[in-house]
Amino acid sequence: MHKINMKMPLVEIDGDEMTRVLWKEIKDTLLTPFIELKTDYYDLGLENREKTKDNITLESAAAIAKYGVGVKCATITPNAQRVSEYNLSQMWKSPNGTIRAALDGTVFRAPILVDGIKPIINGWRKPIIIARHAYGDVYAGVEAKVQEGKAYLNTPQDNVLIKDFQGAGIIQAIHNTDKSIASFARSCFNYALDIKKDLWFATKDTISKIYDHRFKDIFQEVFDTEYAQRFSDAGIEYFYTLIDDAVARIMRSEGGMIWACKNYDGDVMSDMVATVYGSLAMMTSVLVSPQGQYEYEAAHGTVTRHYYQHLQGKPVSTNSMATIFAWTGALKKRAELDNIPSLKNFADKLEAASIAVIEKGVMTKDLAGLFKKEGITPKVVFYNEFLQAIRAELGNLLC
Ligand code: NAP
Ligand code: MG
Repeated sequence: MHKINMKMPLVEIDGDEMTRVLWKEIKDTLLTPFIELKTDYYDLGLENREKTKDNITLESAAAIAKYGVGVKCATITPNAQRVSEYNLSQMWKSPNGTIRAALDGTVFRAPILVDGIKPIINGWRKPIIIARHAYGDVYAGVEAKVQEGKAYLNTPQDNVLIKDFQGAGIIQAIHNTDKSIASFARSCFNYALDIKKDLWFATKDTISKIYDHRFKDIFQEVFDTEYAQRFSDAGIEYFYTLIDDAVARIMRSEGGMIWACKNYDGDVMSDMVATVYGSLAMMTSVLVSPQGQYEYEAAHGTVTRHYYQHLQGKPVSTNSMATIFAWTGALKKRAELDNIPSLKNFADKLEAASIAVIEKGVMTKDLAGLFKKEGITPKVVFYNEFLQAIRAELGNLLC
């Protein structure tokens, strides 16, 4: 069987622990037998980040900016314990944070839906994709305790009275920038066009007449001047409403939209949506820059607990679905940009094979408790057996 050729390289970003083990196994079992993989490889394993003083992370972000598409393995974000475990010279920053800042991108999280694993909310039949604005607001806020007296918001233009305190209290100042909000809007509109789904956005602009209203206005302005025609051509909609109305409508909906959220709303709602759909191991994530560059990854971490069992020689049942879908997402994007239909077809079949294996009852331990299907008792397998089962299914679909 001849292998599929690629035209342009895919930026491949390797990572840590159990997901690094899965990474190699996925490539060996499911990718390189079928594709002449052309990748620009960056090793973001913690040892190499230490060795390169974290320059490797910046280089990988620059490569995504250059080639347009990357796929990333989960990586350790060091804390004090990791500093001693890996003998680090510094507590290196989160690679995801560094890459996101370099590309000025927005993260979209989407669940992988499988027949047999029902969302807790019955009506949600299609994925709800959450886009979280990852800049500013309360995450970059300043706060103070105050005593009796007048507190002011002191700006270069003005002094705004916050409150004439009659006793002790608290205040908080938050900010955002027009530039960051516009980038967020463009990433959302680009991604909606890319996957042809409606985009919803919501704030509390009726109460926050300057702050939240600015978000609403910038989204509308960017939409009207740059995207309205393309949305109408693509047959999709941009829908703005108040955040409480959005929550009520989402609960009653059947899903299928992208829901753009301000930073705090996205923090809260992404955990809610992930929980409703079942498992973090079935959640994919894509970083989209306002210029239309894409980085695909799994939403979960490096699965440290499984890795230490694996190192002790114990077989582990780690779920590789989100990492496989990170690869298929990136390969499909490359296929689209470089016009390689056979590569897109392969990635579609790999996704179908992965889903089919679970639907037939073969799965990792994390899913077994969630799986309910008439006449099928789930069979729990180890991570490598799961990949072999997908390989066999893929073989059937490809011939
Ligand atoms: P985690 O790696 O997501 O794992 C937490 C737990 O969730 C696991 O112990 C496991 O539960 C379950 N789980 C997650 N992914 C799974 C999978 N694919 N298959 C089966 N079970 C899965 O989170 P963490 O343990 O908090 O973080 C570990 C490391 O990952 C940290 O160093 C953190 O910095 C890093 N991290 C990286 C990223 C990223 O690169 N995007 C994101 C988050 C965290 P059981 O143990 O109960 O089986
Ligand atoms: Mg959170």
